[in-house]
Amino acid sequence: MAMNAVLLGSPGVGKGTCAKILSEKTGLPHISTGDMLRQAIREGTALGREAKSFVDAGKLVPDGLVTKMVQERLSQPDCKKGFLLDGYPRTVAQARDLEGFMAVGVVLNLSAPESVIVERLSGRRTCRGCSATYHVKNSPPKKEGVCDRCSGELYQRSDEKPEVVAERLKVYEKQTKPLVEFYRGKGILADINAGFGMPEISKVIGQCEDAIKAAVRRK
Ligand code: ADP
Repeated sequence: MAMNAVLLGSPGVGKGTCAKILSEKTGLPHISTGDMLRQAIREGTALGREAKSFVDAGKLVPDGLVTKMVQERLSQPDCKKGFLLDGYPRTVAQARDLEGFMAVGVVLNLSAPESVIVERLSGRRTCRGCSATYHVKNSPPKKEGVCDRCSGELYQRSDEKPEVVAERLKVYEKQTKPLVEFYRGKGILADINAGFGMPEISKVIGQCEDAIKAAVRRK
């Protein structure tokens, strides 16, 4: 399936988890700006050094830096047939920038009740090796602290401390949520009910696949 898809939604709504499963099912590459920035920070690249203080504080990294990173990534050959873009755009300015270099076919707008989101964020653990995510209660790894997929070490992201989580949710409401109406106005928004827990994740994936297929037919 060829499609340029964007995943939109609050931190903790399950964008990353859904994007990984969708990527396996569709063959479209999963491009996560959060994963890319964390990798740059780990490797201490110029971008990583500039981004670190923003990421640690739960603030957005300046638009120009992220846009350049995404533009480079989307120009790679594996994105020719499409992609699942997770974490970008996050501001209306980024959405306008994206329009300048790439057409988007569908925007999957994931939503879930706030109580569910806070619960998911507080128990999340991430693999240092492959960035797979787990939840201490809802989707624990087979062995505590160890990734099922690559045996990497699981850790709690530094921006998952309660104070920083609260800041990220505030940033989402103020800076990212306006994108819902921005894309609805363009007629490419698909509302996805992401309130189903891990055992029922296929209900979320099914809605996403249907929306992608509908967008392919519209093309
Ligand atoms: P989440 O969606 O769970 O908040 P991400 O892993 O997508 O987490 O992003 C983590 C952090 O990386 C954000 O809080 C922000 O600092 C930075 N970041 C990621 N994508 C962008 C973006 N498009 N624009 C600005 N900052 C970004």
